[in-house]
Amino acid sequence: MSYEPKRFDFSIPVRINLYSDTQTRPTRAMKEAMLAAEMGDEQGGSDPSVWALCDKAAALMGKEAAMFLPSGTMCNQVALATHCRPGDEVLAHVDAHIQGAEAGGPGAIAGVMIRGLPGPRGQFTAETLEAAITPVSRYAPPQRLVEVEQTANKGGGTVWSVQALNDVAAVAHKHGLQVHMDGARLMNAAVALGVPASEIVAGCDTVWLDFTKGLGAPLGAVLAGSRDFIGEAWRWKQRLGGSMRQGGMNAAACSYALDHHIDRLAEDHANARSLARGLAQIEGITVEEPETNLVFFSTEGTGLTAAELAARLRPQGLMFSISDTYRGRACLHLDVTAAQVEEAIALIRQAAHR
Ligand SMILES: *Cc1c(COP(=O)(O)O)cnc(C)c1O
Repeated sequence: MSYEPKRFDFSIPVRINLYSDTQTRPTRAMKEAMLAAEMGDEQGGSDPSVWALCDKAAALMGKEAAMFLPSGTMCNQVALATHCRPGDEVLAHVDAHIQGAEAGGPGAIAGVMIRGLPGPRGQFTAETLEAAITPVSRYAPPQRLVEVEQTANKGGGTVWSVQALNDVAAVAHKHGLQVHMDGARLMNAAVALGVPASEIVAGCDTVWLDFTKGLGAPLGAVLAGSRDFIGEAWRWKQRLGGSMRQGGMNAAACSYALDHHIDRLAEDHANARSLARGLAQIEGITVEEPETNLVFFSTEGTGLTAAELAARLRPQGLMFSISDTYRGRACLHLDVTAAQVEEAIALIRQAAHR
């Protein structure tokens, strides 16, 4: 078995890329910021651009300290390993990214068990969490951490309200558990709610945000928390090979994204709503109401699987991703314009009924 990704068919150009908000290319201005970056040895603490990014991101999330890591996946793994000891239990939604999309890292690296909580659209309530709390005993795994995903990716890019998060955090803290937020798309939530990120994550002990999901940077994520937590987490960053050398070039791209690519996320959300409206008018397609930049839709009524529909569109230069047999996902991001959304709707209509 090879797990290597299939080599992309570069002979068919991609014109409208709804596949993922991770597939953006750095803009010219972002590349110029990278070229101008001051650099040093990140792992030795002498890269000024990385420190500047960490300070900026910590302030944005209202936490004492932050660390720069190559990916969101590593943020989750470092956070789980720092919060927990082997044998501990983490409570997270059944569809959480840590559960299904990080190659078993929580079990392999932190050695934790995950208890999957149910709930519509990728979220669970404080009552559901309360019901999953087990009495402390020598039989049950020690419950250490509650994990929430903002926005809930497989849930449809849904936004946790500040109230729902605070209610969940109150239950967690009452029972002595910590709260970690996978904030891969935290800024999408902040823009959708019109609430500062720091207010959204006030109940979370640790949180990270991704610079490669809609913010348009080529690499990087920042994990934030208390000064003690980040201090402790550095051992795991080092252990997993997440300490960098001249990280400043990438940190400069991420800083640029924080300064220039947040407010414009509102455009992606508006484009998502347009796409959803257009797709809903195609016979046989039903759409999950988007809350941010992700649009999930069912192809079942067309008689085509999501993969079959995607295969018909690929030669035309349009791509979306497959979430399930009949469930497609289209992502809006800074490389997709409103005009391309209209074109995408027309192409999908033709392909669905050819
Ligand atoms: C993409 C994603 C991750 C992982 O981030 P990478 O930067 O791709 O490693 C984690 N959680 C969620 C919800 C994501 O969408």
